[in-house]
Amino acid sequence: MTNSELTIHAILEAQRNYFLQGHTQPLSVRKTILRKLKQLLRDNEERIAEAVYSDFGKSYFEVMQNELGLVYAEITQLLKKLNKWSAPQRPFTALVNLPGKSRVYPLPYGNVLVIAPWNYPVQLALIPVISALAAGNTVILKPSELTSETSALLATLMNSAFPRELLYVKEGGVEETGDLLSLRFDKIFFTGSTAVGKIVMKAAAAHLTPVTLELGGKNPVIVMPDCDLKMTAKRLVWGKFHNGGQACVSPDHLYVHEDIADRLVEEMQKNIKKMYNGDAENCEALPSIVNDQHFDRIVGLIDQRKVVTGGKSNREKLFIEPTVMTGVQPDDPVMQEEVFGPLMPVLTYDDPDALLEKLKREPSPLALYIFTRNRRLATKIQQGFRSGGGMVNDTVVHFVNNTTPFGGMGESGMGNYHGKAGFECFSHRKTVMTKPTWFELWVKYPPYTKSKLKIIRAFLR
Ligand code: NAD
Repeated sequence: MTNSELTIHAILEAQRNYFLQGHTQPLSVRKTILRKLKQLLRDNEERIAEAVYSDFGKSYFEVMQNELGLVYAEITQLLKKLNKWSAPQRPFTALVNLPGKSRVYPLPYGNVLVIAPWNYPVQLALIPVISALAAGNTVILKPSELTSETSALLATLMNSAFPRELLYVKEGGVEETGDLLSLRFDKIFFTGSTAVGKIVMKAAAAHLTPVTLELGGKNPVIVMPDCDLKMTAKRLVWGKFHNGGQACVSPDHLYVHEDIADRLVEEMQKNIKKMYNGDAENCEALPSIVNDQHFDRIVGLIDQRKVVTGGKSNREKLFIEPTVMTGVQPDDPVMQEEVFGPLMPVLTYDDPDALLEKLKREPSPLALYIFTRNRRLATKIQQGFRSGGGMVNDTVVHFVNNTTPFGGMGESGMGNYHGKAGFECFSHRKTVMTKPTWFELWVKYPPYTKSKLKIIRAFLR
């Protein structure tokens, strides 16, 4: 065992004892923890915004909007709903078990490991932590090493505000995550790439630990000829270049009907100019690429012959212009991996049925986006298409909806969180049936007879 393994092993043991002693059980305790965490974040908003900015140039506005804002909203909802969600459910008891009573109790798993990615370094780390704590678990959080300033700040703030038996932030990269994964947790929540998701699931299998995997993939957008062209272009530009295209729910590439492709691209160009003041390099709305490796990878996907807008980059500033490429073909490099950067590849189609048939055979994406005025058709397509989630006439913002489950399917992950789904993600539903002793269904006891079987058949139809 390495030193870091020993230490983290001791912390996990302390968390195990803390949980088993019942410290996380009372709802009042859980609510106090949530309030304290919210206050801690509020008191340190400036420091957090500075840390995220120094990691990848994300603006103060966006840290408040799509990092801290989402965390606050999640805590507020949990505080409001915790009593209701944690109350035992009283389902009907099957006839055969009457006059017994059935109850379903949400039970915390126990000791939870949360592994977070870098691209929303605050909310993707903290929202699962909040749900896990609200459900009565202890948590070890491993934030990303790529956003080291934010991760270090989260560790400093949270490790000094909370007892390590309850919540502990462990910084580190591949090695430290490997050490954590060798230990037995009761639940692992992982957000990151599909490749690392497989490593996590394999490690969890050794302990039969349940996992929730929030993974990536290529989210297609289908733009139909009857769409509201101006609004479609505006929403696509915001959705794609928001966070520099470094979002799991980013529209990865567009399938635009050939009749409107030129007009849509023209509208997108206008919007890019307007939203980034005609000078994206110096516009605060566009963060930089997280590191050299990702910068080189994304620049490598740009085919300058196909660029109609953007295409410039500056390695020193890790800046890549919002870029649109047209005439993209399915076997182009940009179509072989998740783009995860400010490049919008545009492909065209003429037969929507053939396009859908093709997409249905590809790995299930995290989201499918459809732009059309025909809402009935769009809904029908969404209902028949296997993806984690989807939107009609917009992109990305379904993630913000903390009243609905969020999660992937197939290659884009398994399990859901956000709001009630988050609480359920970290709770086992335990059924307990209680039977009185004044009545017994005598027909179940041997010796078996034909008349007893007849009665059983009447009950179990
Ligand atoms: P990543 O998989 O490289 O890293 C995620 C976490 O795993 C980090 O904490 C990292 O330290 C750890 N890790 C990396 N390599 C590891 C290894 N070999 N063994 C053990 N642990 C390892 O992902 P990333 O680059 O931080 O994030 C980008 C990816 O995450 C994209 O694919 C994106 O689509 C996906 N993502 C998904 C969601 C979602 O909600 N579904 C949200 C954000 C990002």
